[in-house]
Amino acid sequence: MRTDLVPAAEALSIILQGAAPAGEETVAIGEAAGRILSRDLTALRTQPPFPSSAMDGYAVRGADIASVPVKLVLIGESAAGSAFPGSVASGQAVRIFTGAPVPKGADTVVMQENTRAEPGSVTILVTAATGKSVRKAGLDFQRGDTLLSAGFVLDPQRLSLAASMNHASVPVWRKPFVAIASTGSELRLPGAEPGPDQIIASNGFGLAAIVRRSGGEVLDLGIVRDDRSALTAAFTRALERGADLLLTLGGASVGDHDLVLPVLRDLGATFHFSKIALRPGKPLLAGEIVHGGRTVRILGLAGNPVSSLVAGNVFVAPLVAAMAGRNSGRSHPVPAVLGCDLPANDERQDYLRASASRNREGQLEVTPFGVQDSSMLAALVRADVLLVRPAGAGPARAGDPCSVILLREI
Ligand code: AMP
Ligand code: MG
Repeated sequence: MRTDLVPAAEALSIILQGAAPAGEETVAIGEAAGRILSRDLTALRTQPPFPSSAMDGYAVRGADIASVPVKLVLIGESAAGSAFPGSVASGQAVRIFTGAPVPKGADTVVMQENTRAEPGSVTILVTAATGKSVRKAGLDFQRGDTLLSAGFVLDPQRLSLAASMNHASVPVWRKPFVAIASTGSELRLPGAEPGPDQIIASNGFGLAAIVRRSGGEVLDLGIVRDDRSALTAAFTRALERGADLLLTLGGASVGDHDLVLPVLRDLGATFHFSKIALRPGKPLLAGEIVHGGRTVRILGLAGNPVSSLVAGNVFVAPLVAAMAGRNSGRSHPVPAVLGCDLPANDERQDYLRASASRNREGQLEVTPFGVQDSSMLAALVRADVLLVRPAGAGPARAGDPCSVILLREI
């Protein structure tokens, strides 16, 4: 295990090494929202399967309506789901509705508003170019077209397209199963009456939300005391339940009660590193443990709420997204300008909680809060962005370019 402060970018690439989904499964189209396609999907049919009307109106031959007004004999009706069986000859028209098959012989639909209906006939009042308001067969897609690619999230649009392609079920990646343990003898669940030396466990809820948003499923190990046997029992449960990733909160530092690393080592885990050059959140354990022939990843986050949520965004979200099979998932920093001067930074990459607004030039102007304590959740919620200050950055002036991670739309 490395003992230096690992630079943030290097830590992320070590964490992401070999991260991939554990397998595929098939789910019903009605259950597939938000899942990630594991294979490209090909259309099983052509849409529309026949030339169809884009309007309520009359199906005619374009040549018949070159000069208007012109009276045509009405020979029948074509509605969605019940086509006109015959064909349209010169001088004839068929009443037609949106989505209905355009009858043989007809090549044009005149919208209802441009006609006058009479018993047994219709007078076309406004001409229409041949082909107008007719959707050609295959306008949307052809049978055999590959329209959806592996790695994409089935969002509402893609889900609807998969259904239209006639897939009753779809192949998706298995969701990574992520066990989350909130470690600390001082912790109580929200709603409890904490004792004088206790606090409420908070960040496990935020981390579970990050895991789910990134495509993972959560196994909640709850609160675990800073006690070797309690930790051993909780971690063993995660392994036996088949977790793909064990995420621990708290107890990752070097204090006497920080037992996550030694307990996991006793269970056979190996670690890549335990500290990163990042603020907030210097302690970060990255490792793995083999259980029943399967490699289970381990990420141990600092317990301070802001530290763990920053690590959640910077490390957990991309790792879970990669394990979920998403071809995207990193929150890439976006360019901004500083709203104030900043002193030089030390050797740790800093994620400063900051307010942001658009200046007159439309740039995102960001100003970090004066107090940056890693325990302050209320301040994190007030922040619009995390201002990324690279390790070793020199002093900066108001107006200088910088980069930020957006915490909300601005
Ligand atoms: P640790 O990383 O265990 O040294 O914890 C650092 C600080 O974060 C301590 O003040 C803990 O009480 C606090 N803390 C640890 N875990 C949590 C949690 N799940 N929710 C809120 N605070 C926590
Ligand atoms: Mg602790």
